[in-house]
Amino acid sequence: MSIIKDFLLQLTLMVIPIFIYFTFITEKVKGDQNKNVLMTILWGISIILCMSFPLTFGQDARLDLRFIPLLFGTLYLGFRPGVFLSGLVILYRLYSGISIGFYTTVLVLLLSLPVILFFQKSFANSNKDKRVKIAVGLAFYYCLMGLTSFGILNGFSIDAVKVQIIHLIFVVAVTWIFTMLMETIKEIHQLRSELLNSEKLRVVSELSSVFAHEIRNPMQVTRGFLQLLNDPQLPKNKKEYIKISIEELDRANEIIDEFLMLGKPAISNNIKVNAGYQLERVINIIQGYSINHQVEIKTQIQDSCWIDANPQKLNQSLINIMKNAVESMPDGGTVWVTCTSTDDESIKITIKDQGIGMTKKQIDRLGSPFYSLKEKGTGLGMMVSFQIIRSFKGKMIVNSEKGMGTEFIILLPQISKS
Ligand code: ADP
Ligand code: MG
Repeated sequence: MSIIKDFLLQLTLMVIPIFIYFTFITEKVKGDQNKNVLMTILWGISIILCMSFPLTFGQDARLDLRFIPLLFGTLYLGFRPGVFLSGLVILYRLYSGISIGFYTTVLVLLLSLPVILFFQKSFANSNKDKRVKIAVGLAFYYCLMGLTSFGILNGFSIDAVKVQIIHLIFVVAVTWIFTMLMETIKEIHQLRSELLNSEKLRVVSELSSVFAHEIRNPMQVTRGFLQLLNDPQLPKNKKEYIKISIEELDRANEIIDEFLMLGKPAISNNIKVNAGYQLERVINIIQGYSINHQVEIKTQIQDSCWIDANPQKLNQSLINIMKNAVESMPDGGTVWVTCTSTDDESIKITIKDQGIGMTKKQIDRLGSPFYSLKEKGTGLGMMVSFQIIRSFKGKMIVNSEKGMGTEFIILLPQISKS
C-alpha cells in the first residue's frame, strides 16, 4: 500500500507544472521561446521534486516518476530541453552520491533518451491518438530498460521485480492519462482561440456592412441636393440645400472619425493622468454646447485623482457621455459631474442628468453599434466610450429611469501620484 501512496505523492508533484502551464503560461506569457524556457524550468522542478521524495526499496534502490516530466519535456519541447532535463536528472542523482543507483540512472538514460529523441519529431507531427500511443510506448520501453539495467547491475530478485512491475504499470498508466489530459486541454484552448477569432471577424463584417450603409445615406442626400443645385431653374432655397448638404457631410465625417477610433489597435500608450483635471477640460470644451441647450453643468471634483490612461481617449469618452447627457434634456436642466477617489482604491467619475432617461431594454442596448434614438445620432458614441473605459481596465455602470434621468458611473483603477 505504501508503494501506491508514494507514487500518488509523486503524481501530485507532477501535476503542478501542467496546471501552472495551462492556467498561467499559455494565456499570459507571450512568445513561444519564453513559454518553452518557463516550461523547461517547471518540468525541471517537477523532476527534482519527484527525485527528492522517491520510493526506496532494497539497498539504495529508488524509484520515482521522474521519467514522466522528462518524457513530456522532451516530447513537447524538443531536443535541447530533453538533453537539459536528462542532464539535470544525472546531476541531481550524482548529488546523492555515486552508487549503483547512479550507474543505473545513467545507463537507463543512455538507453532511452536517444529513443525518445528519435520519436520526438513524429510525435510533434502526429494527431492526438498517435501521440498517446507514442508516449505510452516510450513509457513502457523506459520502464523495461530500467528493470533490465537494474537487474544487470544489482541482480534480479523477486521483490525488486515486483516493485518495478508496479512502477511500470503506474508510469504507463499515468503517462497515458496525462497525455490524454494535455492533449484535450490543448484542443480546448485551440478551439477557444479559433472561436474568438471568428467572433472578431463576425463583428468586423457586421460592422462594415452597417457602416457602409450609414455613410451612403448622407452621401446620397448630398448628391441629390447637388443635382438640384445644378438645375438652371434653380429653386429658391439654395442656401438651405447647401446647409443640409454640409450637415450631412459633417455627419459622415463624424461617423468615420468614431469608426476609426474604434478600429485603432489597442496599443497602450497610457500615461499618468489626473482624471479631475481632464474632466474640467472636457467641461470647458462642452460649455458652449450646453449653454446653447440651456443646460448648466455643476461639478464637484476632488484633487489628485490619478489614473493610468490615454488623455485624448479619456476625453473622447467623457465628451461622448456628457454630450448625451446634455442632449437628453431638450428643455434644459442640470448635469452633475463628480470625480472622487473611493475607499477601495478606485477613481469614481459620475455624470448625472435630469433628462429623458432610458428603459431597462434601452440600457441593455446601449453601446451596440449604431444604436441611436436620435434623429441625427451616429449611435457610435457609447460604443466607443465603453471600449475606451474597458481599455483602461475600468468599468462603466449605467443607472437610468425613464423620464427621470440617467447616471453614468465610471470606475477606474487609482494609481499613486508619484
Ligand atoms: P448618439 O448619441 O449618436 O445617438 P450614442 O451611442 O452616444 O449615440 O447613444 C446611443 C443612444 O443611447 C442615444 O441615442 C440615446 O437614446 C441613449 N442615451 C445615451 N445617453 C443617454 C442619456 N444620458 N440619457 C438618455 N438616453 C441616453
Ligand atoms: Mg452621443
